[in-house]
Amino acid sequence: MELELDPTIAQEIVTLELGNKVDEYEKIFHLIPIQIWYKDTKNNIIRVNKQVEKDLGMPASDFAGKSTEELFPAYSAKYYEDDLAVINSGKPKIGIIEQINNVKGETLWVHTSKVPTINSEGIVTGLVALTINITESKKLEEQIPIWAKIFEGSGEAISVTDTENHFVAVNRAFSLTTGYSPEEVMGQNPRLLKSGQHDPIFYQNMWAAIIQTGFWEGEIWEKRKDGVIYLKWLRIDQIKDEEGNLINYLARFTDISEKRATEERIRYLARHDALTGLYNREVLEKKIAKDLKKARRSGNRVGVISLNLDRFKNINDSLGHKVGDEVLKELAQRLQTCSKKISLTARFGGDTFNFIVPAISQKDEIIPVIHEIMSAIEKPLLHGQLELIVTASIGVSIFPDDGESAEVLIGNADTAMHTAKENGRNFYEFFEANMNEYAAERLILENDLRRALARDEFSLFYQPQVDSKTEKVIGVESLIRWIHPTGKIVSPGDFIPILEETGLIIPVGKWVLAEACRQHKEWIGLGLPPIPISVNISAIQFKDTDFLQLLAKTIEESGIEPGYLELELTESVVMRQPEFVIKQLERIKDMGVNLALDDFGTGFSSLSYLRYFPLDRLKVDQSFVRGLSTDSVNQAIVASVIALGKSLGINTIAEGVETKDELSFLRKLDCDEIQGYYFSKPLPNEDFVKWFRSR
Ligand code: C2E
Ligand code: MG
Ligand code: MG
Repeated sequence: MELELDPTIAQEIVTLELGNKVDEYEKIFHLIPIQIWYKDTKNNIIRVNKQVEKDLGMPASDFAGKSTEELFPAYSAKYYEDDLAVINSGKPKIGIIEQINNVKGETLWVHTSKVPTINSEGIVTGLVALTINITESKKLEEQIPIWAKIFEGSGEAISVTDTENHFVAVNRAFSLTTGYSPEEVMGQNPRLLKSGQHDPIFYQNMWAAIIQTGFWEGEIWEKRKDGVIYLKWLRIDQIKDEEGNLINYLARFTDISEKRATEERIRYLARHDALTGLYNREVLEKKIAKDLKKARRSGNRVGVISLNLDRFKNINDSLGHKVGDEVLKELAQRLQTCSKKISLTARFGGDTFNFIVPAISQKDEIIPVIHEIMSAIEKPLLHGQLELIVTASIGVSIFPDDGESAEVLIGNADTAMHTAKENGRNFYEFFEANMNEYAAERLILENDLRRALARDEFSLFYQPQVDSKTEKVIGVESLIRWIHPTGKIVSPGDFIPILEETGLIIPVGKWVLAEACRQHKEWIGLGLPPIPISVNISAIQFKDTDFLQLLAKTIEESGIEPGYLELELTESVVMRQPEFVIKQLERIKDMGVNLALDDFGTGFSSLSYLRYFPLDRLKVDQSFVRGLSTDSVNQAIVASVIALGKSLGINTIAEGVETKDELSFLRKLDCDEIQGYYFSKPLPNEDFVKWFRSR
């Protein structure tokens, strides 16, 4: 605080000749709210006024005759130095900042002006010190750096504007958030930060609140210097002085764009499938409920569709999950826009998608929608050089025919979809009540399956393989059957997937391997000519860490000649992690066991990898053999597989050969080996032995 005392006024007060006991002057002397010290030239106090008494807490009368040395030993020397300068020069000294202490020993800061008293002869007789206690303002002054630090260091952006709302101070966080330096904004109006996202009413309301309640707070969009618009939480307070006059506006804010973005992401994820961005189950159910409500009023029907990709596992297994994810994303995009009749497309994990077709009057109206969905799926997907063709199985349930609630309708559409799968995939089924019975049966089946191994209900059937030219038996494939307690023979296609899902495939696969080896030994014992026996190995078995050990142990315990054992693996097994698989296959080869690639052509084999696999045989999938004599596409495929086999030095065997036409065509194509109903169906052991002996 800067105190200014005009030296001429000070001089006038002194020349009132205070010694003249004039009452009026005496009164004034004590009334003046400034300490007045009257001292002689020897540093002794002559008298002081009441303000000194007030500030120092000691009766004014006690000061008379005391030296400053007695009163303020700590500071006296400094005073005297200043006093002497005034006395010797005869000139006042104005605005000295010094310290004194009160009776309690507390230090006070004072602002003093010292004026010499001069008698009529012009001789300095003493001096008058006019002193103002500035301790309070000094304390404030000391605090300023602390406040400045807090202001600057605050993570919250702070700006101060004057009563006209022009910036007078901004802190570092302000500059960081807005992009403006203090120099750039000083004197400017905060409208500089406006984003243009709010209408004038917004600002009117804001100022009305500030004027009425003294503050406003809320979210506001503003623009950074670089043009980026961001969301902030802003609070503006009026700052008033003790009398209630407005002196400043204080604005504080934080950028909440990121927080908002996170919140929005969380809200988004609660409603969407993270991978594809489609709606999730919760939203699907809500939307169905909504559409049902409308349909009840209008008397319309609502269709719920469940779609599952066919053999999607194949893509995941052979090309990896990353490719699988890409495929799902691409398909999701297509499905979302494939039909105007669909009100919502959803996915909740896996390769199942759901659709709602609201407001139809007849069941049949949904069929064109299904065709739109199917054609969206069937367009080839490009993965590098590879063209992937995906198909899907679709199930449909209809409100009110097949259910009254979202849950039931989704469940029934699922059931219908499973039926579509069992009926050969790549098609659709409408839900029918007996499908649920079937699903229940399936559950029972699963339960029975868990006990089948212990009850010895599995059995191996054997299907011969013959040389295409000589028709000599050159091998036999073992194929599992489940003889259900009801006597029904269950095909592996119906239970292998369940075994794989439940992990039961490990103990069952172990049994198959042991049984095939044991049987082979028995045949040798019976004097049958030794031929290789093939065993199908599931992907899960093959990946099992104990597999190699199990294989070695089984060979040893059964005593089978390893050269007579062949393992059949499908493409999807070998194309996943090919480096690992190559090593694994080489170890199997080192044991002397043979390897065949089963169902060749149905997976996504990378032909460039194929030559690194130590394979003995390629098994052309039976879907290519079907109608071979007339189907030119299949002819081309089989011809090129055979050519591929020849170039790799591997035998090719065609599966599923049922007719003479197919056989003769395969002969023409120079296919090495044949397996199929044309020669024999898979047979139980005794029948197989009879068949073999008869040849
Ligand atoms: P796969 O290994 O490709 O076996 C050939 C399938 O084609 C067998 O079906 C066989 O009965 C059938 N087949 C053979 N010739 C013909 C024909 O001329 N026409 C027709 N329409 N079909 C023919 P199956 O026995 O039902 O086995 C189906 C699949 O189940 C097998 O395909 C194999 O992948 C799997 N599988 C069978 N046994 C086992 C096993 O012990 N373990 C494992 N993990 N999988 C097995
Ligand atoms: Mg096989
Ligand atoms: Mg096969």
